[in-house]
Amino acid sequence: MKILKDRILKESKVQNGDLIKVGSFLNHQVDIDLMNKIGKEFQKRFKDTKVDKILTAEVSGIAIAAIVAQYFNVPMVFARKTKSHNLSKDVYATDVYSFTGKKTYKIKVSKEYLKRNENILIVDDFLANGQAVKGLIKLVNKADANLAGVGVVIEKGFQLGGEELRKEGINLESLAIIESVEDGIRFR
Ligand code: 5GP
Repeated sequence: MKILKDRILKESKVQNGDLIKVGSFLNHQVDIDLMNKIGKEFQKRFKDTKVDKILTAEVSGIAIAAIVAQYFNVPMVFARKTKSHNLSKDVYATDVYSFTGKKTYKIKVSKEYLKRNENILIVDDFLANGQAVKGLIKLVNKADANLAGVGVVIEKGFQLGGEELRKEGINLESLAIIESVEDGIRFR
C-alpha cells in the first residue's frame, strides 16, 4: 500500500535496532484519513471472506480495528490486557509475551463477545514475532469460532511471525512488509 509505505519512510524512527516508531500516525497520534484508507484496503483484500467480527488487542490495535470494523459493518472486540471492572469473570484467556514490553501478560475476552462458529478477522498494528496474533488466534480457538484471517498494518519481515503464520496456512494480509531497517527502511 503505497500511501502507507510513503508515510513509514517519511515519519518512522527506528529505535534499539529493530523497534519501529510510528507514533505520528498509528501508535500515539492517529491519522484518521489514513486509517480509513487502510480500512478500505482490508475490505478489498478480504472481500471474498465472511467476517462477523473484528478482534484485536488493547491498546494500539483498537484505533485501527475500530475503523476496519466500520468498513466490514461488523462489531469490533478488543482483548483486554489490563484489569477492568468492565470485564466479566467468564473469559477466554491466554498468555502473550510482549515484544515491546519485554514481559508476559494475559489477554482476555469475555465469553459473551466471542461465540462459537463466528468468523473472526484479527487486526493489529504490527506483526513481529507473532506472539500477539498467536495469542488472539488461541482465543478464537478456545471459543470454537473460525479464524477468517489476519490483517496487519505493518509486518516486520525480518522477524519470524509472518512466515510462521503463512506456513500454517493462515490467510494473512500485511499492508507494508519491512524487509530490513539497517541502512534505512527497505520494503519487501
Ligand atoms: P509480536 O507479538 O508479533 O512479536 O509483536 C506485535 C506486537 O508488538 C504489536 O501488537 C505491537 O503493538 C508491538 N510491536 C512489535 N514490534 C513493534 C515495532 O517495531 N513498533 C511498534 N510500534 N510496535 C511493535
